[in-house]
Amino acid sequence: MAERTLRGARLGGQSFEDERGIEFAARQNVAYGCPQGHEFEIPMSVEADVPAVWECPRCGAEALSKAGLEREAKVEKPVRTHWDMLLDRGWEKELENILKERLERPGEVETGPAHLHRSNAKRRVKSKA
Ligand SMILES: [Zn+2]
Repeated sequence: MAERTLRGARLGGQSFEDERGIEFAARQNVAYGCPQGHEFEIPMSVEADVPAVWECPRCGAEALSKAGLEREAKVEKPVRTHWDMLLDRGWEKELENILKERLERPGEVETGPAHLHRSNAKRRVKSKA
């Protein structure tokens, strides 16, 4: 039921005035501004993917969302995590090297707090057994 209402609203395009003020729990108004300075809002489901660009109802130009969505977001950019960025910086290799170094010569590489050194010594004994 709610779905049908939303779909009708989206197709309707510009006649949302009478619906203003009515509370729809699952709705949000997405504000757009076109290059000509026209501003308008499109009610959408909160769960919907908010389009970064919407056709201006007045002049038909591409209006950009003001919901903080960058236009570039529409271009299929892979979502980058912090982990990806770490990998980009070569941290994985570096961590690998550090780990290797510590495993190979646990006694010599003494970085970090002392309790880490002790656990290294234990590890060495363990791996020899
Ligand atoms: Zn316009």
